[in-house]
Amino acid sequence: MEQEERPRIQSIRGTRDILPPESEKWLWLEGKFRAVLSRFGYSEIRTPIFEHTELFQKGTGGSTDIVLKEMYTFQDKSGRSLTLRPEGTPSVARSVLEHGLLKRTKILKFYYFGPMFRYGRPQAGRFRQFDQVGAELLGDVTVEGDAESIHLHVMLLKELGLSAFTVKINSVGCPNCRPYYSRLIQDRLKESLDGLCDDCKVRFDRNPLRILDCKVDDCKKLVEKVPSILGSLCEECLHRFEALKERLESIGIDFEVDPGLVRGLDYYTKTAFEIHHHMLGAQSALGGGGRYDALMELYGGPHTPAVGFAAGLDRILLAVEKEKIEVPIPSGTDVYVVAVSDKARQKCFEVAALLRETIRAELDLAQRSLQAQMKAANSLAASFCVIIGEEELASGVFTVKNMKSGEQAKVSETELRSRLERELRP
Ligand code: AMP
Repeated sequence: MEQEERPRIQSIRGTRDILPPESEKWLWLEGKFRAVLSRFGYSEIRTPIFEHTELFQKGTGGSTDIVLKEMYTFQDKSGRSLTLRPEGTPSVARSVLEHGLLKRTKILKFYYFGPMFRYGRPQAGRFRQFDQVGAELLGDVTVEGDAESIHLHVMLLKELGLSAFTVKINSVGCPNCRPYYSRLIQDRLKESLDGLCDDCKVRFDRNPLRILDCKVDDCKKLVEKVPSILGSLCEECLHRFEALKERLESIGIDFEVDPGLVRGLDYYTKTAFEIHHHMLGAQSALGGGGRYDALMELYGGPHTPAVGFAAGLDRILLAVEKEKIEVPIPSGTDVYVVAVSDKARQKCFEVAALLRETIRAELDLAQRSLQAQMKAANSLAASFCVIIGEEELASGVFTVKNMKSGEQAKVSETELRSRLERELRP
């Protein structure tokens, strides 16, 4: 076929089309994930992909890169400031409050799938529109909840057959101990303020903890001077962190403690975690999350302990590729209805319609020759062909060809569907 002319209007930088058969991989992943999420007792929540800008400014946090630099914010026709969601947790929190869901029950377990939007610099594994799965456990204060969230994330990856990843955990403290640690960072870095990148100079005043997360080499060097947060935790946070490690060990989850792990979002308290893949290069985080006990109050709701995570589907599928995991791609169809001559086309259409009530069936819509139709059946990996010519039209008995064995049988029109159903699902 001749190369089609490239269209003048193309997809936006950092976005992409997911075409078949690639889209089959997404269906496979989603099916596997939904099965695991349901084993853990989570139900799906679907929230809008755009929200009032304020939701993210308040929740995600005014000092985060996401809010400062990466949001797709626009005014609608009535002048309201709206934002394409850069992450899912604020929407879930808003929805729970808006519908008073925690008035009826103490614990909620929600998961979501969907596209998120961030205006970052596109590169391998980093897009401007990407998909996440997220799982939120709301109303839960226990350390088992923290461990469950990490376990669930790990199980999602294992369900796909992934194994080359590391779980990293940390505690980012609570409103009791974090201010103390923030001051300690400021004390240690105030002499070297000039050596920090411009972003970290702003973070120094607004949210010093996030300097630990900076990827700029000079900042990384300076951060070596700062002692670990784990030495500054209050008794309660320390106790929870120790208990979390015990819970994870008790169910055989390997982890690494990473005191530099602070996560990009402002709302985390106590437990923070990330999962990194070993074969993905710079963008190695498959997902991450933690406890966010203070988020609901930021939105004017009651104190609501909560823990959750979000994982990136685009990157998880890259990891599936890197680990050479075979994704089962279903064949194109089960039965191909072949017209030997033009006269049979009308009958083929009727037979395909009948089969399609219960069976995957295809027919030729391009007026192709018999030979080309048989080729199409092969390329769709059809298990059977139903062949209809003049003779079959006259007798009402069709030729059914088993495409694997090459065997042919004569089957009457009335028995055709039930016979094929039996053959396809023995
Ligand atoms: P975050 O909400 O930043 O914690 O991200 C959670 C996960 O979403 C990350 O670990 C990535 O797997 C994925 N993710 C975040 N940003 C992007 C992006 N720009 N492109 C692709 N995946 C992303």
